[in-house]
Amino acid sequence: MPQILDGTLVRAQILADLVPRIQQLTRRPGLAVVLVGHNPASEIYVRNKIKACADLGIYSEKLTPPESITTDALIAIIESLNRRDDIDGILVQVPLPPRIDSRRVLEAIHPLKDADGFHPVNVGHLVSGRPAPRACTPAGIIHLLKHYRVPMEGRNAVVIGRSDIVGKPMALMLLQENATVTICHSRTSNLAEECHRADILVAAIGKPAFITAEFIAQGSTVIDVGTNRITDPSTAARLGRAEEFERKGWVLVGDVDPSDVRHRASAYTPVPGGVGPLTVASLMSNTVALAESHLRLAASCC
Ligand code: NAP
Repeated sequence: MPQILDGTLVRAQILADLVPRIQQLTRRPGLAVVLVGHNPASEIYVRNKIKACADLGIYSEKLTPPESITTDALIAIIESLNRRDDIDGILVQVPLPPRIDSRRVLEAIHPLKDADGFHPVNVGHLVSGRPAPRACTPAGIIHLLKHYRVPMEGRNAVVIGRSDIVGKPMALMLLQENATVTICHSRTSNLAEECHRADILVAAIGKPAFITAEFIAQGSTVIDVGTNRITDPSTAARLGRAEEFERKGWVLVGDVDPSDVRHRASAYTPVPGGVGPLTVASLMSNTVALAESHLRLAASCC
């Protein structure tokens, strides 16, 4: 039987490690979360982030400007958060309404308050291997791989997906761990062939159970980032989730076929309970690290 890489367990460890670091600070770390409009999925994500802050003793502030807010007005909110000493990290929940210029908004966050690690300055730091806030989902995956002592150095890692929030930073972080990295995407001409070279396969596509046996090398470690909400009973039944569907009316499935991965991988992250729990833990980790560096800077100025 393959090993299940348990994200809930690793999350608990990441959070427990933060407790003594928070206790050593001279004030509580502060995180501002900006949620524009009423996207139901975003509201759930934000609720989870605020709850994680409360559980850890991190100060959090939720700002909820209306859907009708302009890009300039949203940037003005961020600039006022940039100036506040009690706010260490700022997070703007994406996706933003299409009218808003997301790029301008995310770039308005000061790089030293960039809790999500999306600012181009911090992406540059990642590229050049300097310490900086890292994109939360891939940072959590690296933590998970290290926790389970999955070797990365010298191994072939294949990342499917090249988004700015998952695929690209994931590839860079694996490179930093000295893996040999291949990035695949929708124009990759022979995806199965590329995937068969993988010792570590990361699927970040957003297509339910797209990665089937033909893409999974025997004995590989498979990381399933996909979070796909299934509302069709026959798909849920085909993926072995009929009972859960009956109870809830929907199920969450990954990008990897759950039955095929059990037959071919040596280790894998389940959905749910794999990568999902790690993202918020990484956000907490980034917020504490930002607070530490702000307090260090303040102390060195006086
Ligand atoms: P995204 O921005 O939509 O990117 C998807 C990527 O998959 C793109 O690079 C796309 O290629 C590639 N792709 C699409 N179809 C493909 C195909 N047939 N073959 C090969 N590559 C293909 O998505 P994302 O934001 O990275 O998220 C990916 C998944 O992870 C989603 O299910 C999302 O919900 C989930 N997610 C989970 C967490 C978590 O905490 N668990 C966090 C973030 C995201 P092109 O670039 O060529 O279009």
